[in-house]
Amino acid sequence: MAKKRILSGNRPTGRLHLGHLHGALANWVKLQDEYDCFYFAADWHALTTEFERTEIIQPSIREMVMDWLAVGLDPERSVIFVQSAIKEHAELYLLFAMVTPLGWLERVPSYKEYQLQTGRELSTYGFLGYPLLQAADILIYRAHGVPVGEDQVPHIELCREIARRFNSFFGEVFPGPKALLTRVPKVPGTDGRKMSKSYGNAIELCEAPDSITRKLKTMMTDPARKRRNDPGNPEVCPVYDLHKIYSNPEVLQWSAHGCRSAEIGCLDCKGALIPLVIQSLAPVREKRIYFSEHPREIDEILEDGNRRARAFAQETMALVRQAMKI
Ligand code: SF4
Repeated sequence: MAKKRILSGNRPTGRLHLGHLHGALANWVKLQDEYDCFYFAADWHALTTEFERTEIIQPSIREMVMDWLAVGLDPERSVIFVQSAIKEHAELYLLFAMVTPLGWLERVPSYKEYQLQTGRELSTYGFLGYPLLQAADILIYRAHGVPVGEDQVPHIELCREIARRFNSFFGEVFPGPKALLTRVPKVPGTDGRKMSKSYGNAIELCEAPDSITRKLKTMMTDPARKRRNDPGNPEVCPVYDLHKIYSNPEVLQWSAHGCRSAEIGCLDCKGALIPLVIQSLAPVREKRIYFSEHPREIDEILEDGNRRARAFAQETMALVRQAMKI
């Protein structure tokens, strides 16, 4: 039986970190067993917010793809490609723009939220339209599913509405893709906020062991635990959130009990975590070094992925033009 298709992507804005790994990539790797996967570098999406520093986008594509390969995306099983290499995404985006009411885009929560959170005045047409571009990215591969976190669900809903509207005007061309919700562990950065490159609190996937050690040793802990003898609360401690990802049940129990009873200090607690993080990233780092020394392999993987994606996208566009009689 043919496998179902899924599609997901990341904006190339720099090297990836633990937040990306546990938030999406680990799941992408698993999904390769079950689905035909299309994974793409969303460089046009990066332009919607990074139009004033476009020079970061091209180098970031390669950095990101190397990270993807290092964590286990397999170019034999997955189509790994670059959005802007497949011009059909732009054509479908334009055609969708003709049938999408403006109000549908204005009510997508992330439109206002991003501006509120960042304080950036982003009233561009491109930024307003990016969920529509996302819909084109998904539907051009007639994807059945999109692995997403909770915050992206409204985008998938919009995509389904656009597919339904298009089909109602022009006949059944697109399936209604489903959101494949991913349970994501909390991945705090070294300052306790969500891990993010823009906060300067991230641990990168290719971070050197001594740098990981330094960052984790100075990572924020339960702010109420000021002295070694003060009992702490692991449930409010970002170090403990990382223990939940990396430690086995015995270490977790040791850490939680030792914290609450003040039998261990924060340095002991971090000391148990640090080698686990370093060990788990060691194979990723090793593969990452291999790919950075073999840039031609990255070119070949992207050329092949672009070719496979383009062939599929062209097929869909032929169906779309036929349906629209254009
Ligand atoms: S002992 Fe561990 S869990 Fe408790 S506050 Fe310190 S670092 Fe956090």
